[in-house]
Amino acid sequence: MTNSPNIAFLAPHTTDFQIPDGWQRYETVAQLTQANSDVIVIDLPQEGLERAIIELRKSIYPLNLIFSARPANGPLFEQLGDGMLPEATDAVLPLYRLWQQRLHSFNRGQPSTTTEERVLAWLWSRPRSALVPVRAPRQAIPYYYPLVDVLTEDDTINAFSWLQLMQQQGLFAEGELLDRLRQCRECSSTRLNYIDVCPDCQTIDITRQPSLHCFTCGHVAPQESFLKNGTLECPNCLTRLRHIGSDYDRPLENLRCRSCNAFFEEPLVEAHCLDCQHINAPEDLKVREIRRYSLTELGRLKCRQGLTSSLRDDHFDQLNLINNGAFRTLLNWQIQLTHRYKSHATSLMAIKFENLEAAMEQVGEAGGIAAIDTLVSRIREAIRETDRCTRSKENLLWLLLPNTDIEGREALRNRILELAQLLPIAEHSGFRVVVDGYTLPMEMLPQEDAELIMARLSGKLGA
Ligand SMILES: [Zn+2]
Ligand SMILES: [Zn+2]
Ligand SMILES: [Zn+2]
Repeated sequence: MTNSPNIAFLAPHTTDFQIPDGWQRYETVAQLTQANSDVIVIDLPQEGLERAIIELRKSIYPLNLIFSARPANGPLFEQLGDGMLPEATDAVLPLYRLWQQRLHSFNRGQPSTTTEERVLAWLWSRPRSALVPVRAPRQAIPYYYPLVDVLTEDDTINAFSWLQLMQQQGLFAEGELLDRLRQCRECSSTRLNYIDVCPDCQTIDITRQPSLHCFTCGHVAPQESFLKNGTLECPNCLTRLRHIGSDYDRPLENLRCRSCNAFFEEPLVEAHCLDCQHINAPEDLKVREIRRYSLTELGRLKCRQGLTSSLRDDHFDQLNLINNGAFRTLLNWQIQLTHRYKSHATSLMAIKFENLEAAMEQVGEAGGIAAIDTLVSRIREAIRETDRCTRSKENLLWLLLPNTDIEGREALRNRILELAQLLPIAEHSGFRVVVDGYTLPMEMLPQEDAELIMARLSGKLGA
């Protein structure tokens, strides 16, 4: 961890850039993929830069820091790269250290090989990053997710379905909605031709044609066929038509099918796929939302604790955490008891670790975890066998304290706050432990159940 990073400079031409001592110069991506660099700096105009970074991400450098030596813009480099090289090249080192530390703490230090591991590792190693779709003009689906594409070994993976799966698993959060597409049912193409057809025979050969409607016999036909020697006469029943409204009118059906001669008011609309020629009814088209995605709290938790570990397999485990559902059941049961036996008091307490993530970054992953471990074991000493704990978010811990009145609850609260004061990370700006609670039955609202009172308390904590 203490060695300096190998920094590669990629420029297939003479360059004005003052390459610092110790950096290794490469002329091609191929040479670079034979090397073993830690950080890459690319000196290429935009198009070359984009080509190079795609190749590099697909090679042995899926996660490494890659900077551009030139002002770079464009959504592709923004998504796949790490921005412009800092003006002071010394600044690369702390960025590298931070990146290295993050990756080291990812998935318990296991190497990332699957798409899931790589994409999670990417998001984890760049805390404020997101998966951002980029426009792909003239493609059957006009958006793609470059990061998913380059970090995927298997080309057959469908990035859209994969993202949906990750979201269903609770690892990815939906971000800003950028577009909504309608796609062919058969081939998912968005290249659709919305075309008007005859509602009777579905032919596309329809035309707008002013027509008349004879009230005597009900005949509807193009208005020319009613014209006879300058007057109007029904070609079917031969009645003279004098007064619009009483003898005849203009029907709303002024579209005519040239194939079956049907008259109609509204054509049928079909969405013809230009790629596979499937004919879709508009209401049958697939609707796809194009969004950004980022890691959820659960996603970050998994990254930290190991992707295969279960939620309770971590440093909070010594509190014998029970799952949220079981906790709520117990709380509801306590609520019933307090209704039945008025003298029975039970307390609910929530402990929120504010800016835990930021504090971990400041003191380093290992230091942060050690500090939390210490706090958690002190909390364990402060509570009783019969108390129950759960966690609803990475930074929100809940305690159910049966037979504890307001006084007892306040005593425990002060104890926990004192303990938190002793933490080495407490000195760092931002990190704070907030504790609050309610005691039942006196602080309950009428009709409140476990879920509602927990929501009220977490609102009070700003969680
Ligand atoms: Zn027709
Ligand atoms: Zn008629
Ligand atoms: Zn199609």
